[in-house]
Amino acid sequence: MFSLLWQVFDSPEELKVKVDTLAQLIKESEYLVVHSGAGISTSAGIPDFRGPKGVWTLEEKGESPHFDTTFEDARPSLTHMALLGLQRAGYLKYLISQNVDGLHVRSGFPRDLLSELHGNMFVEECEKCGRQYVREKVIGVMGLKPTGRHCEVKRSRGLRACRGKLISTILDWEDALPDRDLNKADDASRRADLALTLGTSLQIKPSGDLPLLTKRKGGKVAIVNLQPTKHDKHAHLRIYGYVDDVMKQLMEKLGLDMPKWEGPTVCESSTATSESPVDVKPPHAITAKNKCEEKKHIDDLITKGIEEGMEKGEYVVEYHGDLLQITDAKQREAEYAQNPATGCYMYYFQYLCKTYCVDATKETGRMGRLINHSKTGNCQTKLHDINGVPHLILVASRDIDEGEELLYDYGDRSKASIAAHPWLKY
Ligand SMILES: [Zn+2]
Repeated sequence: MFSLLWQVFDSPEELKVKVDTLAQLIKESEYLVVHSGAGISTSAGIPDFRGPKGVWTLEEKGESPHFDTTFEDARPSLTHMALLGLQRAGYLKYLISQNVDGLHVRSGFPRDLLSELHGNMFVEECEKCGRQYVREKVIGVMGLKPTGRHCEVKRSRGLRACRGKLISTILDWEDALPDRDLNKADDASRRADLALTLGTSLQIKPSGDLPLLTKRKGGKVAIVNLQPTKHDKHAHLRIYGYVDDVMKQLMEKLGLDMPKWEGPTVCESSTATSESPVDVKPPHAITAKNKCEEKKHIDDLITKGIEEGMEKGEYVVEYHGDLLQITDAKQREAEYAQNPATGCYMYYFQYLCKTYCVDATKETGRMGRLINHSKTGNCQTKLHDINGVPHLILVASRDIDEGEELLYDYGDRSKASIAAHPWLKY
């Protein structure tokens, strides 16, 4: 080990041996929980607190911290992406973070497997019903204060929206931790047989003490941090290295691919069966049994390529084409671009945290191949799952007259989307 300021580094040989041990601990574990702190976001350009260039270190010297990026422009670090890879591979069961930079959420980590104990710069919450909204820009208000916006949750058909005040989720020093996130973090820590802490000095209570719950229940604690931490003496394995170096070697050792970042992606649930850009509520309350029959009926229409309903809320037709994963889709798009005579009809969407594309460019005899977009369309897109395969379908957003052209509303009109697809404006 050698030391630089008060940061301590393992030699490359020591580091390799320790990462091998960590990989072994992870393979043997049944319930891995990771605790992340500011140290995992420094390589994303966001300053930490206690490092040599940290917010508090500089504050003590009367200097201000340097941000290499804005929160909106910050890209998840290698460690953020590796954690997503560990979750997808089934190793990582729960993630607890003290970071407010939103990078775990924006990396696409499922929000139902994540506790953000100190809040998230991009999330505002309804005071009345607790619904959270993940925004594309930072909320700009701290300390659980009102943001000036109101909740849009529809209470039920015909009734007005909730309209509760939205407040920031970022805690001030005196604020209590959010119950929901803390309870889930507490449960996961007790259930865990391995707690891995990354880039945190474990000094903030109660967040920093959660790994001790794992140890008290007979589990192991592994700590990766350059500076000393409060619980070093409790660690089964103590690694002194940059978290990105450790995670890179760890993923190689476990034989796992690093997920690629394709821009901010929010994944609400690790178990969702369908996630649609635009959610169309069925016109009538449907009972569970009917819902099941209804699903089978739509499965059938999709499989046979039949066009059906024309009334508001009904299935109309599948937006049909080749279902591609993003790398293949990008390749095709590049091929199409070479020949201006070919069109390019590709619809990108997210499903279970992955990006897919329906490529409807190739001619087929099927209905629902080329459907034009319009801001005032009569259909909305929705995802329909058949045996784990997402199908992009169109649902009537109002009653459609016979002979009327089908037009779908793409829904997403974020600045980034409009920049990439100017036609979204119309
Ligand atoms: Zn509300």
